Amino acid sequence: NIEVNVAPRPPVLCPGCPHRATYYAVKQVAPKDTIYPTDIGCYTLGLLPPYETADFLLCMGSSIGTGCGFSYATKQKVISFIGDSTFYHAGLPALINAVHHNHDFVVVILDNSTTAMTGHQPHPGTELDGMGNEALPIDMEKVVRGIGVKHVEVIDPRNLKEAKEAIKRALEHDGLSVVISKAPCILLERKLKKERKLYQVNQEKCKKCKICITKFACPAFYMDENEVKINPALCTGCGVCPQVCPFDAIGVVE
Ligand code: SF4
Ligand code: SF4
Repeated sequence: NIEVNVAPRPPVLCPGCPHRATYYAVKQVAPKDTIYPTDIGCYTLGLLPPYETADFLLCMGSSIGTGCGFSYATKQKVISFIGDSTFYHAGLPALINAVHHNHDFVVVILDNSTTAMTGHQPHPGTELDGMGNEALPIDMEKVVRGIGVKHVEVIDPRNLKEAKEAIKRALEHDGLSVVISKAPCILLERKLKKERKLYQVNQEKCKKCKICITKFACPAFYMDENEVKINPALCTGCGVCPQVCPFDAIGVVE
């Protein structure tokens, strides 16, 4: 028997992951009793606090089909999450069904331009095929509009204001809405970009409300004694946390 005191480390979305921004924006505007069917990918980690955006997962591609059911059987708002790769693989038939049967709920496609969870494999929306050859990327927005979805918006979730407004409009729309939340997987972006900005907390401005930790939960934040700080080894420079801080206490390291 070994007795070791190990700090609990639940699995988390990476620092700078655009899914965190999408979930944060959704939770800011969606009613408390919204039902969140989800799907298989990194974004399933939305299951955990503080986001709690994964109420139901049956199998790959199920989030839209089960969203149809929940929206039909309840009076609650429904937001189904599905990744880009899963959408092309198994989400499309259910979306066609949702259009055909005039369902009323929101689908958020978390488009990070790759199959991130299993190691950045290409998918039909990317410019490479599985063998690394050039391939025709299938335009997701055109596909969604082409099958008859009337309310479609493409957003960059790293702009929180834009993201919140788009999700609010989608929730208010009478009928099926699709929000394509498009921003590259941060690991992919870091491979391609050598330069990155680093962010830090201005201790004079910080009021220690801890919204950046408890509500936004980027793992680059930590408490050092009584101060909120950002670990420069973890910060990817996504630039979302300054939009979360109500006291303008987060800025770029000059
Ligand atoms: S959200 Fe801003 S003010 Fe609040 S603890 Fe974080 S850095 Fe400090
Ligand atoms: S900029 Fe802020 S949210 Fe983005 S990785 Fe750095 S600490 Fe996290």
